[in-house]
Amino acid sequence: MGGKVTKSNDQWRAELTPEQYGVSREKGTEAPFSGDYAESKTPGVYVCVCCGQELFSSQTKYDSGSGWPSFWQPLSPDSTATKGDASHGMRRTEVTCSRCDAHLGHVFDDGPAPTNLRYCINSVSLDLNLGPETDTEEG
Ligand code: FE
Repeated sequence: MGGKVTKSNDQWRAELTPEQYGVSREKGTEAPFSGDYAESKTPGVYVCVCCGQELFSSQTKYDSGSGWPSFWQPLSPDSTATKGDASHGMRRTEVTCSRCDAHLGHVFDDGPAPTNLRYCINSVSLDLNLGPETDTEEG
């Protein structure tokens, strides 16, 4: 895992789409069921849209019905960071990318076993890196 990635708001704005910037750098929330990955079951590794750090595996993604990509565990204990968030009149736990501090979403304690956690993540904060092609034995 590399060191921290720190860029100015102007740099981020130049590299990201307005929607990506609004969610990942300004703690926005995409509309439910609007994101590319909300219901995706495509195998791969979800990386941070800002810095490329690997964050979540499709193997821990599940259908929460919330309209946002939901995972019961991050890829590694160090890939994400959390902190208390009392905004919008709610007590929640914000999830960020540990490398560039991108806002990813929130984590709740109503997820499935074995962790009982629900990482509720915005699609636009993620990019899906597809897994390696599986060679067939044919031919
Ligand atoms: Fe990042």
